[in-house]
Amino acid sequence: MLLGCVADDLTGATDLALMLTREGLRTVQSTGLPPADLDVSEVDAVVVALKSRTIAVADAVSQSVEAARALQTLGALRLFFKYCSTFDSTDEGNIGPVADALLDLTGGGVTIACPAFPKAGRTIYAGYLFVNGVPLNESPMKDHPLTPMHDANLVRVLQRQTQRKVGLIPFETVDAGPEAIRKLLESGAAKMFIVDAIADGHLRSIGAAVAHLPLITGGSGVAMGLPAAYLKAGLIDRLTPAPEQMAAPQGRQAILAGSCSAATRGQVKTAIEAGLPNLRIDPLEVASGTQTAGQILQWVDRQPKDKPFLIYSSDDPDAVRQVQERLGRAQAGTIVEDLLGHIAAALPARGFTRMIVAGGETSGAVVQALGAGVLTIGPEIDPGVPWTRSRSGVDMALALKSGNFGASDFFLKAWDRLA
Ligand code: ADP
Repeated sequence: MLLGCVADDLTGATDLALMLTREGLRTVQSTGLPPADLDVSEVDAVVVALKSRTIAVADAVSQSVEAARALQTLGALRLFFKYCSTFDSTDEGNIGPVADALLDLTGGGVTIACPAFPKAGRTIYAGYLFVNGVPLNESPMKDHPLTPMHDANLVRVLQRQTQRKVGLIPFETVDAGPEAIRKLLESGAAKMFIVDAIADGHLRSIGAAVAHLPLITGGSGVAMGLPAAYLKAGLIDRLTPAPEQMAAPQGRQAILAGSCSAATRGQVKTAIEAGLPNLRIDPLEVASGTQTAGQILQWVDRQPKDKPFLIYSSDDPDAVRQVQERLGRAQAGTIVEDLLGHIAAALPARGFTRMIVAGGETSGAVVQALGAGVLTIGPEIDPGVPWTRSRSGVDMALALKSGNFGASDFFLKAWDRLA
């Protein structure tokens, strides 16, 4: 195992894990601390997903350091601190303080801070972060409920969060290539450098220039150049092509959808129109006890064994609002999450080995119910959504889909990527 990554949220972790897989590293993702006995003999990178983006600074620091230490114990020679490509943070943190603590842990040298991801519309020029061509402080991030971004100059933003000197590796230097970048990094001008990047070629140059650093911080974009750079530096002996398909245990297939996002509602509609057996969860009936997990599992037992079925609570915004008015927002969410978690936990014993889950919170509930916190990253089904195979708890193929991800035929076509 070479690269240990600490991500400040779950979807960010998957994003990074996918990038590393695509670029040739065999990658495992762990929700929370990885088990101490995790077998990493066939693994190049482990990504730990925390939920630390907006928690108190001291907690973010201690959780990140704990995760980094666990990764070092598993053998990580390099650390990567992953945050959002829009640099989501406040003047208090948590990016600066966590980067500081991880720099201390890795010997106190220099590091970079580079959230650039040109393909996703995140570019940095003269230290200013642009989101789809608009300065960060004019983008929708200016109104973010938890981390409103009012300054697009990342040198200033990060400098407010750390005692260490923050500098800039400007476009001209990045454009001149890895040697020029490395020279400035090692000039002593600063301890943390924001790095300009407006195209993938820049990310690859940055990767080549920073492969020797014990700690790198940034978005998933800057990980693009790392695998090839690690190979060149002799830190790994080969790149492993991203899998087109994933071997999964033979067994039954299920789709559980607890997301009410537009993309998921479209996917539910497409699946129903295609004739998949389906059952709708009504949160009000669940709350009143007229719809129960027991009944739903009886329905499961009556379904044909040779094709997937869909259990969904997805509904349109008006209906969701009505449910929330009756039950309360949090209570409505918990009722559905608990029910889907309960159903998921009952499926392995019924021969289910392949499951798609739609919804970020819903996925969290299902993964917890299955005890499947450690996942090997497999082929990408649609942008941002891979098949994974659990390495803890039950042995299952899981596609955990953030609500708004995936094309409308996602529930129908995803299975083709399983062998
Ligand atoms: P997304 O990724 O689309 O945000 P999540 O699973 O993260 O999806 O969040 C959806 C939330 O809505 C969950 O807490 C879920 O339990 C809740 N929910 C699902 N269906 C309904 C419904 N019909 N009415 C109210 N809340 C619902």
